[in-house]
Amino acid sequence: MPENHGTKPRILTGDTPTSRLHLGHYVGSIENRLRLQDQYDCYFLLANMHAFTTKAESPEEIRTSTIEIVKDWLACGIDPDKATIALQTEIPAIAELTWFFAMLLPFNRVLRNPTLKTEIDAKGLGDTYSFGFPMYAVGQCADILAFLPELIPVGEDQVAHIEMCREVARRFNQVFCAVDPQTEDDDYPARGGLFPIPKALVGRIGRLVGTDGNNKMSKSLGNAIFLSDSPKEVKKKIGAMYPGQSRNPDEPGNVEINPVFQYADVFLTDRALLEDLKDRYRRGDNLGDGHVKAHVIEAINALLEPIRARRAMYEGPGGDDLVIDIIRAGTARANDLTERTLHEAKRAMRLDFGPRSLRWAPR
Ligand code: ATP
Ligand code: MG
Repeated sequence: MPENHGTKPRILTGDTPTSRLHLGHYVGSIENRLRLQDQYDCYFLLANMHAFTTKAESPEEIRTSTIEIVKDWLACGIDPDKATIALQTEIPAIAELTWFFAMLLPFNRVLRNPTLKTEIDAKGLGDTYSFGFPMYAVGQCADILAFLPELIPVGEDQVAHIEMCREVARRFNQVFCAVDPQTEDDDYPARGGLFPIPKALVGRIGRLVGTDGNNKMSKSLGNAIFLSDSPKEVKKKIGAMYPGQSRNPDEPGNVEINPVFQYADVFLTDRALLEDLKDRYRRGDNLGDGHVKAHVIEAINALLEPIRARRAMYEGPGGDDLVIDIIRAGTARANDLTERTLHEAKRAMRLDFGPRSLRWAPR
């Protein structure tokens, strides 16, 4: 049983197993999870149902990514003795709450969600995306609220989703728990509401740009540096980056539009060196992009080295089994909590016909 379980304010967040984790995840959300895992009762969700909304034809890949993401978490320092790692598809309360919440949200409100629109463009989903794709935004309200959390550490793209989740929580509390609509967000539980109105906690860098220098770094866009990339891969990916229009021969370098400098800003720990590089680049001194890139490559590899070393412990024989045991133990705990939430929600909705229990058989 994790030492924080049940005694501390709660955090819920998660990642979609569409691939391994990248640097954007690290600075957008993982850093905060590591910082807060001692102070909060943390639940980290593997959103594998959501991976099916865009990758239904690749179940094997989703399964592999699910295991790999847990290895990434453990490699970063997420400690399953402190935080609970849970698998979305084995938490029936989430699926049930998704249906109920879908009835509290106007259809057009879901489709207007700006993050969905950006994803449809960036991932080239056209107009043939599955019905399940926009549903994931509703599902995410259930992912979050099933755990009754206070805080959700996420990147900037998730803020629109979390706003919708906050709306659903208010609405449920008003409709089914008779809470006055004028109530302040923080007061809902004290006024008899089931759901807290949780807050997004955006990381140090809310949107890390991808190596294409354009879109957000994303697992699905082929512009990511993965936490499990080798030093050689990091070198190759940074080396191939285009410095943007900052190298117009008539103008000194523009650090603001050069994505390599965005990485320098985020990853160089030697701030004096960073300022010196920026000054020289702006002045148009004889400072090649290769020189800046070399410092960025070194800084990223310094961050990733201990992560690679810890990851290696789970990559040998038996590593997957260890991960599956962690997932099973965490998901059983998540079911204890989310079944209680669902039971309370059903009671508020006059759907309660007595308690039920979920039993986990041995593997
Ligand atoms: P996909 O392309 O499949 O949507 P993704 O790379 O966007 O994958 P998610 O699993 O959707 O990753 O996101 C997990 C968490 O990481 C979210 O909190 C998200 O906001 C954050 N995140 C993802 N990409 C970035 C980024 N480039 N910068 C900062 N945070 C990010
Ligand atoms: Mg995403």
